[in-house]
This record gives sequence, structure tokens and C-alpha cells, in this order.
Amino acid sequence: MVRQTKIVATLGPATDREPALNSVLRAGVDVVRLNLSHGNHDEHRQRAAKLRRAAQHHNRVVGLLCDLQGPKIRIENFRDGMVELVEGQRFFLDPSLAENAGTQSGVGVGYADLPQDVVAGDVLLLNDGLIRLSVDRVEDCRIFTTIEIGGTLSGHKGINRLGGGLSVGALTDKDRLDIKLAAELQADYLAVSFPKGGDDIEEARELLRAAGGDAAIVAKIERREAVDNLAEVIKAADAVMIARGDLAVEIGDAELPGVQKRIMRLSRERDCVVITATQMMQSMVDHPMPTRAEVLDVANAVLDGTDAVMLSEESAVGRYPAKAVAAMARVCVGAERYAEEAHPPLSGPEPHYTRIDETIAKTAIAAANQLSVRAIAAMTESGATARWMSRISTDIPIYALSEQPRTRTKVTLYRGVHPINFDPAGRDHVAANRGAVDELLKAGAIREGDLVLITKGDLAGVQGGTNTMKIVRVGDPIPSDSM
Ligand code: PGA
Ligand code: MN
Repeated sequence: MVRQTKIVATLGPATDREPALNSVLRAGVDVVRLNLSHGNHDEHRQRAAKLRRAAQHHNRVVGLLCDLQGPKIRIENFRDGMVELVEGQRFFLDPSLAENAGTQSGVGVGYADLPQDVVAGDVLLLNDGLIRLSVDRVEDCRIFTTIEIGGTLSGHKGINRLGGGLSVGALTDKDRLDIKLAAELQADYLAVSFPKGGDDIEEARELLRAAGGDAAIVAKIERREAVDNLAEVIKAADAVMIARGDLAVEIGDAELPGVQKRIMRLSRERDCVVITATQMMQSMVDHPMPTRAEVLDVANAVLDGTDAVMLSEESAVGRYPAKAVAAMARVCVGAERYAEEAHPPLSGPEPHYTRIDETIAKTAIAAANQLSVRAIAAMTESGATARWMSRISTDIPIYALSEQPRTRTKVTLYRGVHPINFDPAGRDHVAANRGAVDELLKAGAIREGDLVLITKGDLAGVQGGTNTMKIVRVGDPIPSDSM
């Protein structure tokens, strides 16, 4: 059985050595993530170049996702490296404090407006929620707090407010420079961190286009405001990432499972691609096997219809990057076998077609599901046909046949879609159909006697032109007047 759910793995020091990168590729990674929160442009250039070389060597099509740091608010540094915060004691945050002047009593903050954004009674969470401070009062630019949950605190750790609402804008100056890098690296996906609404997504897209990039935009859902504006964010973005690390800190962990399911359902209904991210196999940073709870987490995301599951530290800095990819792959395939146990059953969105190509794509899946079709061959210029197809539940593999390399790397994120290099240009319809069937035979996707569903447009090389669906039996003669 061909795995349907895609695997995104973050590159980092753990994958920098060639053998490590090679084994991650062999283990089946579909998309790699460059996390622009860490490292400099040259390191990212090198990682992207190494990846493309290795992918070519292994004859694999792998997508590239560049993930912007975004306006994560961070504390500054401590004089002695770190401090121990004790429950019940006082601690202040003050943006006017010198950068390395932090002590047991307080620390600087990299965001000057933080004191204006908080009021007495607010809860601030540091270091992904491990440390919890309750705001007592704000005087001038100093925030006085009482430590509710203490622990060791070192410099540069993130700050979130429980309930969200910190006013900082979505794209920083660093993000603007990093968008240019994403364009230069010809990323397939650009992830925007901490967007509040659709405008943040549009702005990132415009900057990227101005820089010459054609990546699809991923909205990371990791703020309360993005959850509140979910429909608008989904509409503006090409894909969403359920960024559970920051999201859980903002909305509280008890809300997280329900909100994850809501994001997944709404995205599926609205033809948006979904990545489920963060701590999916966290224990594999140090161990070669996932915990049972992690297995269930990945499997549940699969059964809820995610397009992709993502590894962060597990692959970027963990001890077992390739084993983490392999474990995810194994668990995804295992869960896909029980798709009928999904509750509620995965079904497509209510049919509502507005375009010819979309209508062909979606009704093709309905037909294929009825007729025991073995494989679908979608001749696609932009990948849109394959994307619409992958929004409707099916376990029939969808092969995206395209001569466009950018389309082939983009479809790597879509559930159940597999890219094949194929150029129908210069062939008549019969030859194009035969060619498509031959490609699927070559890929081992079909055998003599199998049914194959083919979609394509009247004119090769035209975007949005899909208007034909055809079902053929492999080995039967294709009449020469056939479309
Ligand atoms: P990050 O985003 O890894 O860039 O923080 C993902 C998340 O917050 O879950
Ligand atoms: Mn995040």
C-alpha cells in the first residue's frame, strides 16, 4: 500500500552530514522545512543545495518549505546565563533593561510595547509555557509579576500571554529579508508565523511575489486571533499548519485537541491543505522508538484527514532523524488502513463546484471510488486538479503528471498525490493517454486489466484547462478517434 499521508521533516544540525540526510530521504520524507528562526542565510543556502543534490541522487521529488521566524516575543539575557525562578517570589520584565543585565529579580524584553499590552491579572508564559507569571501591576515600562510556576530560565526564551492578544504585527524586518531568501531558494512553500488574520497572509504573499518567489503560503495557526479568524485565514492561505507548540501556550493545552479537530475539519471543507506539527514524536529526540501516546497522536491526525505530519526537533537536532521519519511513515500507513474507523467518517466537502476543472477533479474521485479504479492519472499544469482530488477521501493513489518541475515539488504536500514527470505536449489525445498509462505501468502503480482514470485538458500546457475525464482498462486498445 502506498502511503497517503505526507511527512515534513525539519532540517538542522542532525541532518547536516550527508549520510544522515540520505537516510532521512530513504526513510520517505516528502517535504523538508528550513526553520528560519535558527541559523543564517548561508547555512540555509547550503542545506537547500545539499537537499536538492541528495534528492536528485535518490531520484526523489522533495518539496522545500521555508518557515519564517515571525514576531515571537523573547526575553533578553541573564548576567549569569540563567536563573532559578521560585514559586511565590517576584519577577519583573522591562524592555528598557540592558540586553545582558537580567538577574534573579528581572530581565529585559525584546519588544518595547509589551508593557502597554498587558494589565494586572494577565498570565504570561515563558519557555513554551513551562514558566508561568501572573502580572501584579505595570509601572512605566516595567511589568511586575509573581511567579506561579518556577523553574530554570535561560536567555532568549519566548513569551506568550495566556489567551493571546499581544499586539505585535506579523512580519518583522527579519521576516522581510527571509522572504527574499525563500524566493532565492525557490521554496515551494513559505510558512508565515503568528498571523492574526488574512491580511498578514496577503502581505507575505505580495512581498514574496515582489521578490520573484512563487511559493504557496502556509498560515501557521498559533495565536488565539488566528483561531478566532479561522475561516478568513484559511481562505487567504494555500495551506495551514496546526502549530501546536505556540498554539497550546496561547489557548491552554485543554483547548488544543478540540481546536486541532476544528482546524482540520474546516480546512478540509474549504479545500485547504493541512499540516499537523510539533512534538508529534518528541521523545524520539532521545529515543529510537516513539511512545504509545505519540503513535496515537500521529495516527489520530491521519484519521482526522491531515495532509501531512511534521517533525521539528526530532529531525533537526534529535539523535534519530531517519528513525523518526520511518516511525511516522509506518504509523501513517497503519492508520490509513483503518480509514473506515475514522469518526466521523472522512468524506469530502458538500459538493459545490464553481469551475470546470474543479468539477472534473472532484467528480472523478467520486467515480473512481465507485468503480474500483486502481490509480488516477491527473495531467496537470499547476497541480490544482490533483489538489482538488486530494480534498475528497479516497485510498486510490493520485498521480500528478506534469512537465513542470515546480508543480511536481509542490504536490509533495498533498495527501495521496504522487508526482510523475510527464509532458503531453506534442502528442494527440490517444498518444497522451497511452503515455500516461505507460508512466503508471513503469511506476508499478497498475497492471494489465486494471482500471485507470485519466483527467486532462484539451490543450496541453494551459493552466486551469482540465475538462476531460476518461476511464480505461490497461491493455485494452484505445481507439484512435478517442479524446
Ligand atoms: P515553530 O512553530 O516550530 O516555528 O515554533 C511551530 C509551533 O509553534 O508549533
Ligand atoms: Mn511556533
